[in-house]
Amino acid sequence: MELSQRIQKIKPSQTLAITAKANELKAKGVNIISFGAGEPDFDTPDFVKEAAIKALKEGKTKYTAAAGIPELRKAIAEKLKNRNNIEYTSSEVIVVPGAKMGLYEIFAILLNPGDEVIVPAPYWVSYTEQIALNDGESIAPELSEENGFVLTAEIVEASITPKTKALVLNTPSNPTGAVIPKKELERIAEVCLKHKIMIISDECYEEFSYGEPHVSIASLSKEVREITFTVGAFSKSYSMTGWRLGWVAAPEKYIKAITNIQSQTISNPTTFAQYGALEALKDNGQFPAMMRNEFIKRRDYVVDALNSIKGVKCVKPEGAFYAFPNVSYYIKGNIKNDLDLTEYLLENARVAVVPGSAFGKEGYIRLSYATSMDNIVEGVRRIKEALEKLE
Ligand code: PLP
Repeated sequence: MELSQRIQKIKPSQTLAITAKANELKAKGVNIISFGAGEPDFDTPDFVKEAAIKALKEGKTKYTAAAGIPELRKAIAEKLKNRNNIEYTSSEVIVVPGAKMGLYEIFAILLNPGDEVIVPAPYWVSYTEQIALNDGESIAPELSEENGFVLTAEIVEASITPKTKALVLNTPSNPTGAVIPKKELERIAEVCLKHKIMIISDECYEEFSYGEPHVSIASLSKEVREITFTVGAFSKSYSMTGWRLGWVAAPEKYIKAITNIQSQTISNPTTFAQYGALEALKDNGQFPAMMRNEFIKRRDYVVDALNSIKGVKCVKPEGAFYAFPNVSYYIKGNIKNDLDLTEYLLENARVAVVPGSAFGKEGYIRLSYATSMDNIVEGVRRIKEALEKLE
């Protein structure tokens, strides 16, 4: 039987080949330094684990409501009010099994075949594939390195057509670490209101903003709140990537539609995990603040070290835990593109990085600095040595 047309549209991950190769080398005992991780290198805090263990022991091991346990929906609504300055009721919040699934569900409830979604490039890999899975089209205007990869209202407005349904915002950004300043968010929101398009605001890295405090676009006004999906997660903020828990907050009509999907697909996010997440929110941002302080030091080191390599240019990321240097200077001769360069670095520097083309931007590489300072120092030293051999 042939696979559906929908699934045939999905590209296999470009990063898989490089990850498979890195694992192959590691299995052979080669000392590989990996800058590939999309998750903090800290353990989930003990107080979160203890709460989930307690829940298990108390028998909280059965189905919950499809939208999650009421206590957690309420705690997320309170967090969004106290820390993000947005007023949501519990019925405007749904617990989802990871922000990734939340995003997929948003595209599923919004898109009809051929509807367009603006996904500024470079973008996180799953947006375009999830949009395709839901029969939509991604429109990917390029963000400029000169402007620090920051999205502007002009770029949004120039990408709008009569088919545009929504804009994906991701601030702080994966893969560039760019943060959209409040003033620009206000201008972007105005454009979206004027053209009646929805805003899907992926705020997974909200705790990792190194300059200005994080601003949620839905906090700007009541009108903006009405057209926004605020998406967040426990994954990065509390180093809980494997727990698969996040949230979507939006006007009730949309949350009801997403709840419908969950009730017919996953039933509910894992029960005892939700009790761990409930405890995480009680810490009021202290654990993420500890990670943020550590990431700032690493960011400062990695950006300076990369910029000291001849021909490499790395914009200073204002958030998240990624550096996205321009390495196009070394794309010459046998190295035809950034995928070739990542393979060269793996074989010659024993360092794993992700090619920019995986994020819709050729000529760059992404390094996650969610790894120890020792690894960062040694890894960038190896990259410098290997690249400068290509001179
Ligand atoms: N959005 C962005 C920008 C991400 O980088 C990631 C994870 O890498 C996700 C969403 C998915 O988060 P979760 O693990 O909560 O599904």
